Amino acid sequence: MKIKVGKFLIESLDDKVIQILLKKRNKIIWEGNISDIEITFYLPEKTISRVPSMILVLPVEHLPINIVNRHDNGEIKNLYEYLVSHGSVENLHSIFTAGAVSHSTIRKETEINKAKLREKRVIEKENKKEEAKKERAIKRQIRAEKAKIDLANRRRRAGCKEMKEEKYTCTVCHTVWYSNDMDKIKNIHNALTLSNYSVNHMKDISRCPKCGSRASSHKTVTYWVDKKGNCVDREE
Ligand SMILES: [Zn+2]
Repeated sequence: MKIKVGKFLIESLDDKVIQILLKKRNKIIWEGNISDIEITFYLPEKTISRVPSMILVLPVEHLPINIVNRHDNGEIKNLYEYLVSHGSVENLHSIFTAGAVSHSTIRKETEINKAKLREKRVIEKENKKEEAKKERAIKRQIRAEKAKIDLANRRRRAGCKEMKEEKYTCTVCHTVWYSNDMDKIKNIHNALTLSNYSVNHMKDISRCPKCGSRASSHKTVTYWVDKKGNCVDREE
């Protein structure tokens, strides 16, 4: 079957499949099973609209195509008969409700769009749920690890004396020095090159004892010292 009708060229590839082309541009609009086509309007004679026509609804998101043939020599009728005899679904409106065809198609489209939106929302909701679940699991893990660390710290620091000192770092030469009153405590910091005594007696504690720069950063460091005077833990 090969029918030129209106601006379309409709050609069967076999008993089941047809191609609908735009005649002018030789562009394929659709190719598929004849049984997937729904005929929603069929007017073979020049009556109300004065032009024989047929509306096909293709399964591509219910795309309606209006086939109009001004100088019809029975092409519309031939096409209709061919499609119906090869399995197209007839869903004909009467001529008088023909105006409702495109209307119902618009409604259909709206329904499809709504369904799509609903589906999208459902997916988004699911994704959000999934993300929230993952986030909760991560938070739980972090909390558990923190609790573990806290417990280990508490055990290690049990019975110890907590002491603090000020740590300074020279931003010019990177020398590190401390200000504290823990002369008697052993093993606290190996990095310290100056004795605590000399540092504690510096006039300006924030001034670098090596290069004399006043540009230094400062942190408070906490130490846990056991009864023998050993530093068992340190936190800055
Ligand atoms: Zn310095």
